[in-house]
Amino acid sequence: MADTPKGAILQKDKTTYAIVPRTPAGLVTADILENIAKVVRKYEISVVKITSGQRMALVGIKGEDVDAVWKELQMDVGQATELCVHYSQACPGTAVCKFGVQDSLGLGLELEKMYEGMQFPSKVKFGVSGCPICCGESFVRDIGVLGKKNGWTLILGGHSGGRPRIGDVVAEDLTTEQVLALVKRSLEYFKENAKKKERISAFIDRVGVDTVKKAVL
Ligand code: SF4
Repeated sequence: MADTPKGAILQKDKTTYAIVPRTPAGLVTADILENIAKVVRKYEISVVKITSGQRMALVGIKGEDVDAVWKELQMDVGQATELCVHYSQACPGTAVCKFGVQDSLGLGLELEKMYEGMQFPSKVKFGVSGCPICCGESFVRDIGVLGKKNGWTLILGGHSGGRPRIGDVVAEDLTTEQVLALVKRSLEYFKENAKKKERISAFIDRVGVDTVKKAVL
């Protein structure tokens, strides 16, 4: 079988590929959308699917077209299978939402910029919400951040898969600088102590949230 082209995932038909361009915090522009539409038409890409990670999967690309598609899209690869940070999902927060009490979009973009593609023992996903209504799904992401009037709450170990887990609240009333520092310490601790392919949820179940708190707070 031919090598998998860069940034592509072989599909069920064992012939065509899917790619996921990087769209930090799900933000796109008219230029990005127009360019995607142009490429989708030109290469007859059969399925364009919005994912739960606020990205667009382009599915059904011929192997020989993958490199040209990436070149014409002029977008970075959004990681989808590697053991690394895949994406930061963020709700609109104070940028546009009337309920927002914290700038979740700004923090989500900052986290994406800091960690996108960085290698870890398993995949890592962020969920950032601008108020307790929690549209950014912060309690079911590996690292969740939730905005309240008094500051940010950090939640670790959420998971939305077949064995869902509600994340553990690790600290509350944090400033943006404090939450960024705590995310950094949490990821360092996870990197040093987790087994390969162990998600943060399984890691916390194994070592206990109190152990994690003691190490990072
Ligand atoms: S979590 Fe709050 S701030 Fe974010 S979109 Fe939902 S209601 Fe708005």
